[in-house]
Amino acid sequence: MSMRLDQLVRNCADAIAAAQHSDSARLDAELLVLHVLEKPRSFLYSHPEFIINADQLAAVNHLVQRRCDGIPVAYLLGQKEFWSLMLKVDERVLIPRPETEAIIDYILQLNLPEQASVIDLGTGSGAIALALASEKPNYFVVASDYSEGALSVAKNNVQQLAANGACHEIPLLRGDWLSALAKNSFDLVVSNPPYIDAQDPHLQQGDVRFEPLSALVSKDSGYDDIKLISRQAKACLKSGGHLIIEHGYDQREAITKIVEAEGYLNVLDHDDLNAMPRFITAINS
Ligand code: GLN
Repeated sequence: MSMRLDQLVRNCADAIAAAQHSDSARLDAELLVLHVLEKPRSFLYSHPEFIINADQLAAVNHLVQRRCDGIPVAYLLGQKEFWSLMLKVDERVLIPRPETEAIIDYILQLNLPEQASVIDLGTGSGAIALALASEKPNYFVVASDYSEGALSVAKNNVQQLAANGACHEIPLLRGDWLSALAKNSFDLVVSNPPYIDAQDPHLQQGDVRFEPLSALVSKDSGYDDIKLISRQAKACLKSGGHLIIEHGYDQREAITKIVEAEGYLNVLDHDDLNAMPRFITAINS
């Protein structure tokens, strides 16, 4: 059976919408179909009459079926764009979120030293570290994660982007936050840590169901890792160094208290691009 591209995308979008796991069925359908065709999204509009062959149709149906089972598009495609970098992702890492780009925006406006030393804690796919290294080639950026699986995804991304000349090599460390790192050594500690309470019903909905729990959930109602990071960063940051931590939309007040109690200066909380509370910044005394 032959089918036109525009008709196929419509059918896929209808199937994805009917399965009720996605709030972006049309976009998901376009991305999955064009991935199989190995064409840019513009192809859909320039060649709506393109006829899909049987092999392509089978491959699309397979992906759409998995999307209907709830598997996130980024895992099906094996990639996700963050800060205009295409990153490889799989089930071992959190899918980079556009909300986190607000942190990159903020850091680029800071007046850090020319050769600032920066660490991205819990780097996952490497998103934050790679975005910073691509924008600031003179910064000494390192990244760490506790998960071996995440480090291998990050390593892949670092190698690929460094080979393309998008950034320099980023040392990847396996570690438990900052526990093994030198005192007074960083101008910036940045992290998108796990911060969700294990009982949060949102963990049972949508894409997060397929993401690694270790990247999402933290003990102590979601605050354990944020507490550890703000305490350890106090010792590892240089005086005047910056701490930046992402958090949940309803954690602004509690996190401000946690960071202030450690004795940081200029503790400020910031919204993301959806005007939701998203990250805290502070300066080491
Ligand atoms: N912002 C993500 C979510 O709510 C979670 C990311 C994280 O825990 N670091 O789905």
